[in-house]
Amino acid sequence: MTSTAAIATAQPNNQPVPNRSDSQPSTNGRLLHQGWPGLIEAYRRYLPVTDSTPVVTLHEGNTPLIPVPAVSDRIGKGVKVFVKYDGLNPTGSFKDRGMTMAVTKAKEEGAEAVICASTGNTSAAAAAFAKRGRMKAFVVIPDGYVAMGKLAQALMYGAEVLAIKGNFDRALAMVREISDKYPVKLVNSVNPYRLQGQKTGAFEVVDALGDAPDWLCIPVGNAGNITAYWMGFCEYHQEGRCGKLPRMMGFQAAGSAPMVAGHPIENPETIATAIRIGNPASYDKAIAVREASQGAFNSVTDEEILDAYKILAGEEGVFCEPASAASVAGLLKVKDEVPANAKIVCVLTGNGLKDPQTAIDSSSNANYHQGLEADLETVAKVMGF
Ligand SMILES: *Cc1c(COP(=O)(O)O)cnc(C)c1O
Repeated sequence: MTSTAAIATAQPNNQPVPNRSDSQPSTNGRLLHQGWPGLIEAYRRYLPVTDSTPVVTLHEGNTPLIPVPAVSDRIGKGVKVFVKYDGLNPTGSFKDRGMTMAVTKAKEEGAEAVICASTGNTSAAAAAFAKRGRMKAFVVIPDGYVAMGKLAQALMYGAEVLAIKGNFDRALAMVREISDKYPVKLVNSVNPYRLQGQKTGAFEVVDALGDAPDWLCIPVGNAGNITAYWMGFCEYHQEGRCGKLPRMMGFQAAGSAPMVAGHPIENPETIATAIRIGNPASYDKAIAVREASQGAFNSVTDEEILDAYKILAGEEGVFCEPASAASVAGLLKVKDEVPANAKIVCVLTGNGLKDPQTAIDSSSNANYHQGLEADLETVAKVMGF
């Protein structure tokens, strides 16, 4: 028996394993040292796995829910805002939640290779989990539109990286066809196991807050994650683990906002490359989520995205990638609609280190003092002493 299985079976009724901070170390301290087992073990009874499923995990999930008073203060009215910092997953984005499930099921079905289209993070996650499961990974990306950190990951994890002269929507159409014709398993979010894994984000939010939030703000690209979060909240609600359901507030970049426009966008453009998608695969599902949750879709400009990106890093020490900041930018944009005393969770889907170029380009030179003489006097003077 592996150590992770030992933890899961130690839980009565196969309940989710509590967060590490909540768990008391057992008398010999074993639980503390073993840590979080990954989300399939933690939420096994909510997921389509059996005892014989070969779980492929990098111990993803269990990411922190962090209060962000700098955002709450900009709204006032006693509102409390938290960020679900999913950039702390093993490959730096929430895509790991879906990929542990998709690759586990691909492995169970005997697949030897996986394929995905990607704006970057899916390729990093697919590559890492495929290797972890001893499978081959093919990733199709829009040439020149993938942030540097994500490309670095796909290459380092040993994926075959196919950079096409076309956008994400074209890449997705291609991999759908390829996976129909050739023996490679499609692991984009049209693969239903991806959403199954991703719904655990909602479980963790409820486990941390003790209930669902009033609003869940989330960036929307291909619209899989908003669909998955809603599924997670609904399942927990049915089990009585939360007493209410949140309004699902989806935010898109203004140049790439098909959910807001109500039709596909032919040439989507935005600095937030992770959500540069004009024809979301889960469009209909996301519309259903909006209806069922009395939510809304809104767009935010690249400028608003970068403002939120800087507030999070510069005032709260939480560095996310630009696409992720769309959730906070959107919340600030519609702050007048927020009810007093609401609890709000913004999903920060990816890590800021993914896209160092945008970080450096959008930083001020005012506090970057280059080329200083290496003497104390010079440095102290610049420090203001
Ligand atoms: C994939 C991704 C999104 C969009 O998620 P969808 O499920 O495609 O809507 C948002 N932010 C980041 C960082 C992503 O990697």
